Amino acid sequence: MTTLSDVPRKWRQAHEKAITGDCSPLEAIRAACLDCVGWEDLPESVSECPATTCPLWQFRHGTYPPRRKRPVTDEQRARCAELGRQRSFQNAKTRAQRGEVGV
Ligand code: SF4
Repeated sequence: MTTLSDVPRKWRQAHEKAITGDCSPLEAIRAACLDCVGWEDLPESVSECPATTCPLWQFRHGTYPPRRKRPVTDEQRARCAELGRQRSFQNAKTRAQRGEVGV
């Protein structure tokens, strides 16, 4: 278990933010990876991590990995368009009930 005194001064603020949740998920992952490699201040220590089965591995560079585009069928596209029309109609109806004018 890492204690604050184990964390090099350079990384303490990032570590504190990560453990208090005052950071982005990617910053928390970065802190977790640095913790994992013993807070080595070498750029290659995390980037050359060999643990490809680690759930954080894809995120260790501080960016989200590219996502594969999911194929969308014509039926799904038509259903989305229909839901959009319904939502638009419902929003207009709600605005009319509130007495809001326009649009
Ligand atoms: S990706 Fe590598 S460095 Fe990061 S937590 Fe996993 S094992 Fe540790």
